[in-house]
Amino acid sequence: MSTFQELGLNEDLLKAITDLGFEKPSEVQAKAIPLLLEEDKDLVALAQTGTGKTAAFGFPMLQKIDIDSRTTQGLILSPTRELCLQITNELKLYGKYCKGLNVVAIYGGSSISDQARAVKRGAQIIVATPGRMKDMISRRMVDISKIQYSVLDEADEMLNMGFKEDITDILSHTPEDKNTWLFSATMPKEVATIAKKFMHNPTEITVGNKNESTSNVSHEYYLVNARDRYQALKRLADANPDIFSVIFCRTKRDTQKVAENLIEDGYSAGALHGDLSQNQRDLVMKSFRNQQIQMLVATDVAARGIDVDDITHVINYQLPDEIETYTHRSGRTGRAGKTGVSMVIVSKSEVRKIKSIERIIKKDFDKKEIPSGGDIVE
Ligand code: ADP
Ligand code: MG
Repeated sequence: MSTFQELGLNEDLLKAITDLGFEKPSEVQAKAIPLLLEEDKDLVALAQTGTGKTAAFGFPMLQKIDIDSRTTQGLILSPTRELCLQITNELKLYGKYCKGLNVVAIYGGSSISDQARAVKRGAQIIVATPGRMKDMISRRMVDISKIQYSVLDEADEMLNMGFKEDITDILSHTPEDKNTWLFSATMPKEVATIAKKFMHNPTEITVGNKNESTSNVSHEYYLVNARDRYQALKRLADANPDIFSVIFCRTKRDTQKVAENLIEDGYSAGALHGDLSQNQRDLVMKSFRNQQIQMLVATDVAARGIDVDDITHVINYQLPDEIETYTHRSGRTGRAGKTGVSMVIVSKSEVRKIKSIERIIKKDFDKKEIPSGGDIVE
């Protein structure tokens, strides 16, 4: 299938697609959209970050729900507040010609009564984080007993974050005969278990690793002494003055510290992690999106799935605990046909992890030297 028309989408959606400038469906869209439009089926879709999953479930959901009704028919669960907002915004864009469409985001850290009011006004689709959703169900602020389509987005990440019980609880309040569409980058055992438990004979699709977005990324590693990590980071930044980058750290504390140090040393940087207030997180994301900040220092959880255009570099200040997480990180760059570089700063004790990552991404790293920085005093 090479065009959106051929996938069977209606005029309102096709018009929005033209406005968005999407020329042709991505692989996961080409596979999932016709399937979800034609039949009421459960789906398990494995696809990396940046492959266009939001539209793969968003378009079929928008086409299948009854927009003239104000009943909540679609429920999308997603791991973080940022992703919730991002999906909600995307769905509003996709459905801009669907008159009367109301998509509401539900997430923690923001007024629960405001969210309850928004739902009450009649939301056909709710996009929620599991924690807040469960809370609102137990307070009877939402009615999800008429849900026809439920999506588990970034299922692996939601389970990693410990949302298994919340998800189970939420789904138990939805009709048995609804459809469930599960999207995940990886398929660990817990995801398979959830799929088995809640889905009926799901169709499975897998999108290959060779999609456009990952093949545009080159991978480099820099071997340094553990104590020289920060110096190395600064030199990488100095050598790339136009850098627009996400820098990943392992902990909230390191994230905060690296961002503070960079700012103190005169770099354009900001921190994104779970210990910040929602307001602070929104502000830093806004400045990053507007490219007022060149380097966003972030934890994996906070930056998960975030889609910002034109990121030139992903820097792994520290490697993630789970090497699978590396693909999520490097997927932040090389989007929409652009090229990107994913850099890893490693110490001797971690260098063997590079080999394992190469096996997962099916690509080799270039071993590079930290550029010499003339005015840096060692
Ligand atoms: P994922 O959820 O798989 O990480 P997203 O749904 O966030 O990916 O999509 C990544 C980016 O690609 C978004 O900016 C989205 O607007 C864009 N996009 C999605 N589908 C297409 C398409 N068919 N053509 C061009 N851009 C697309
Ligand atoms: Mg996504």
